[in-house]
Amino acid sequence: MSGRPATGFDAAAAGRHCPVMDRAEEGTFTDFDAARITVRLGAVAANFKTAQRLAGPAVVGAVVKADAYGTGMVPVARSLLDAGCDTFFAARLEEGIALRPLAPKARIFVLDGAQPDMVSALIVHNLTPVLNSIADIAAWSAAARETGTKLDAAIHIDTGMNRLGLPAAELAILAGEHTKRLERLRVVLWMSHLACSDDPEARMNRDQLNRFKTVLAMLPPAPASLSSSGGIMLGKEYAFDMVRPGLGLYGGNPQPAKANPFSTVVRVTSRILQLRRAEKGETVGYGATFKTKRRSLLATAGLGYADGFLRALSNSGAVAVNGVRAPIVGRVSMDLVTFDVTDVPGTLAAGNEVELVGDTITLEEIATAANTISYEILTLLSHRAQRRYEGAP
Ligand SMILES: *Cc1c(COP(=O)(O)O)cnc(C)c1O
Repeated sequence: MSGRPATGFDAAAAGRHCPVMDRAEEGTFTDFDAARITVRLGAVAANFKTAQRLAGPAVVGAVVKADAYGTGMVPVARSLLDAGCDTFFAARLEEGIALRPLAPKARIFVLDGAQPDMVSALIVHNLTPVLNSIADIAAWSAAARETGTKLDAAIHIDTGMNRLGLPAAELAILAGEHTKRLERLRVVLWMSHLACSDDPEARMNRDQLNRFKTVLAMLPPAPASLSSSGGIMLGKEYAFDMVRPGLGLYGGNPQPAKANPFSTVVRVTSRILQLRRAEKGETVGYGATFKTKRRSLLATAGLGYADGFLRALSNSGAVAVNGVRAPIVGRVSMDLVTFDVTDVPGTLAAGNEVELVGDTITLEEIATAANTISYEILTLLSHRAQRRYEGAP
């Protein structure tokens, strides 16, 4: 206690008794957060049901890789479990391990496969690898031999992505020797992945569908899965026994040329910190890259590229204030973004909410403005912004 002034503001003591600080310590949001990410868990559950409706009777396996596309794997997985989801896909082994305690009974697939140094962790955590090569199949079979049991596996056959999955030459080997090569395994899923499912007009969709059917006829029978969110929108012919949506669950539009059947999950909002008048011909922000063409009312909100709001949105795209679009002017900086609110009706003030992504500004709109895709916008959502989860089960 020595050295503490007898009078004046005691920040430490004030912090201890300040209710806002107390809530922040509990991991919830603060009232003064400038940048906020709101995740509507009810919409995640609704989107899961939409996928079931579009793909049924196929099972919906939820793809929760990359922290559920940046939305937060733990609360999202809880909501999906509550909605009846019993099958999940992780990319990394670590993601599967993190999910296991939340979903002790669920089937959890790991897309990365089964390299020899992964097999013991896969077994310990009861994870099902998606085997991507003859080498993966051999490593997983060796583990099965050691444990003296058959092990479950999904097997990924490449039908045109040239990314992961057995290439044609390895498929030929497997098809010719499947009795021997699969004797230690229980194949629970034959899987492939579409390259162009965001575009319903792409010829490659049908080519891959036909190729997948040919592949399945070469292999012993097991449930099959071809479609992610985009494939779900291509029709039931593409659904097989299981679909694997990611983006749609998080409210993205899997086929941006069509209306989005999925509901908005993520809102990124901020608050106006300052409003100012600028005369015609003044410049805005770093590098003075924007010059006003008229007397303007400019607003600056507390959110920038350190919150995942890409600097590529400088002088591109818009935010929404009271549901009205306001164009971004000047460069997006680390903590701040400035936009032109001259044409926004009504009286604005510091503290007014600004929507950067949400019901008015869709993920696809902001992604197009940033010359990227909705997936990258979602997965870049930062952890500086305060997060609020609505509708937890
Ligand atoms: C990421 C991924 C998915 C989910 O894709 P979305 O387009 O987000 O629905 C499905 N399958 C595989 C193999 C993936 O890598």
